[in-house]
Amino acid sequence: MSTSATVAAALGAARARGLERLDAQLLLAHVLGQSRSWLLAHGDDALPAGHAAAYGALVARRAAGEPFAYLVGQREFHGLTLAVAPAVLVPRPDTETLVDWALDLLQGDLRDASAPAVLDLGTGSGAIALAVKDGCPRARVWAGERSAGALAVARANAERLALDVRFVQGDWWDALASATDAPVFDLVVSNPPYIAADDPHLAGLTHEPLAALVAAEHGLADIRRIAAGARGRLRSGGWLLFEHGWEQADAVAAILAQTGFGRIATRRDIEDRPRCTGGRLGA
Ligand code: GLN
Repeated sequence: MSTSATVAAALGAARARGLERLDAQLLLAHVLGQSRSWLLAHGDDALPAGHAAAYGALVARRAAGEPFAYLVGQREFHGLTLAVAPAVLVPRPDTETLVDWALDLLQGDLRDASAPAVLDLGTGSGAIALAVKDGCPRARVWAGERSAGALAVARANAERLALDVRFVQGDWWDALASATDAPVFDLVVSNPPYIAADDPHLAGLTHEPLAALVAAEHGLADIRRIAAGARGRLRSGGWLLFEHGWEQADAVAAILAQTGFGRIATRRDIEDRPRCTGGRLGA
């Protein structure tokens, strides 16, 4: 990219490299610390060489398929601005369905609990745990995560947003093993890896942590482990909610039924695909 380019020329060059118009504009706005409307009003302004070089580098990374959120280091999720980095899955709008369901239960079936204990297993950036705490301040929210890199991102998000979430490190339920003060939970939510290793969709997700995406047994292994380990950690009458692949609702419902859950239901995501399935333990 020429260092003497104007704003409009830089945007045109990004488009020529295959970027969507909105991505091209938002990345340049990010580099310049300006709004999109500023860009549109200043198309003829010369771009300082340093900014042009920084923009060119981001455009190349975006053109190579890197998620937009990693390039700007943040993502909006359920009304919160979360820092994200390659150690964590980029929060998806689909996952807001899981948060909304959890919040509905906290105002519904669990409304009589004065300080309901909620656990997010595999929290990644902290998205679900932080959005639940933000939407339901009376909840005591815990979040487990195996990856130390992800946990650092999640903790920093909690601190910056001033949301009180207790983080514990470990593999699914093992994360609670060393926490002697862990409560018996009223609600457990999880967006575990659920993509099958041979899913062609993975070809488009090469920049995100594979451990957050892929699970054995056609993508169901981690959902099975979480459901099978719930008893004892989740109280009888407590709820377990999963996000899953849009073709997995029946399989997840069957796993929940086999592991002692009742009142099993599925909710759809913003694109109207069956995306979350959950149930109530021992009911
Ligand atoms: N919904 C994500 C995707 O298909 C996958 C998230 C996950 O595996 N938990 O891009």
